[in-house]
Amino acid sequence: MPDTHKPAARAGAANTVKKPSRATATDAAPVMAADRVYQAIYTAVLDHRLTPGSRLREEELAQAFGVSRTLVRQALHRLSQDGVILLRPNRGAEVPVPTRRDGEHVFDARRVVECEVARRLAGKLAASDMDTLRQIVDAEAKALQSQNKQDAIRLSGEFHLALARMCGNPIFVRLLEELLPSTSLLMALYKAPGEPMCVAHGHHQLLDILEHGAGTGAATEMRRHLNEIERSLSQPAEKKSIALEELFRDARVE
Ligand SMILES: [Zn+2]
Repeated sequence: MPDTHKPAARAGAANTVKKPSRATATDAAPVMAADRVYQAIYTAVLDHRLTPGSRLREEELAQAFGVSRTLVRQALHRLSQDGVILLRPNRGAEVPVPTRRDGEHVFDARRVVECEVARRLAGKLAASDMDTLRQIVDAEAKALQSQNKQDAIRLSGEFHLALARMCGNPIFVRLLEELLPSTSLLMALYKAPGEPMCVAHGHHQLLDILEHGAGTGAATEMRRHLNEIERSLSQPAEKKSIALEELFRDARVE
C-alpha cells in the first residue's frame, strides 16, 4: 500500500463493488473492456480472492479476461494510480502487502472522512436512502448467515460507500474507494480467516442512530465502529498462541 498521496480513484469505480462477471472483450469497446478488467481486479482485492502479495502477470490476466495485454496494462495502470495494486519497474504488478503502520494511516483517514459523513447524514436521510441502506445491511446479514464470505465483505464495503455517496461529496466517495481495498488487504493479513470485514451488528446500530440520532452521536458511533474494526486486526497474533498450544500438544511434558 503506497504511503504517498494517490490521485483519487475514478468516479466510475463507485460501482465496482458489484459482483464481477467475465469480461467479453469481443463485443465491448476497448475502454469498456479495460473497465471490466479494472473492476474485476478491484473487487477481487476487496473480497480477498486476490490476497496481499499476489503477482498480477499481464499475460495471465490477458488470457483470463480474453483481452489484449495493452488493455490489461491500462487497467493495471489505473489500479496502481488508485492505490489498489503496486506497479514496480522490474517486478510488474502485485497486490500490496500493507504494514501495520499503513493500517494506522488507513483507519486514521477513514475516521476523518466517515465520522464526518455520519455526522452530516444523521437525521437527514431520505426514506429511500434508508431503504437502500437497510437492503444492504439485510443482504450483508444474510451473506454472513450463509457464510458467503465474499458477498459479506463486498456488502460491508458497499454500506460504507453508500453513506459516502449519500453525503453528496464525490471526493469522499473516491477517498473511500481507495481506502476500502486497503482495509480489505489489512483484513486479509491481520484478521482471523473467515471473519467479516465489519464487526457484526455494527451496521444495524449505525442505521438506528443515522435515522433518529443527532450528528454528534452518529459520528461517535462511526468512530466506535471503525475503532472496533481496527482493534480486530490484532486477532491473528492472539490466535497464533492458541495455535502453538495445538501445534505442540503431542510434545507436552506431563
Ligand atoms: Zn462497517
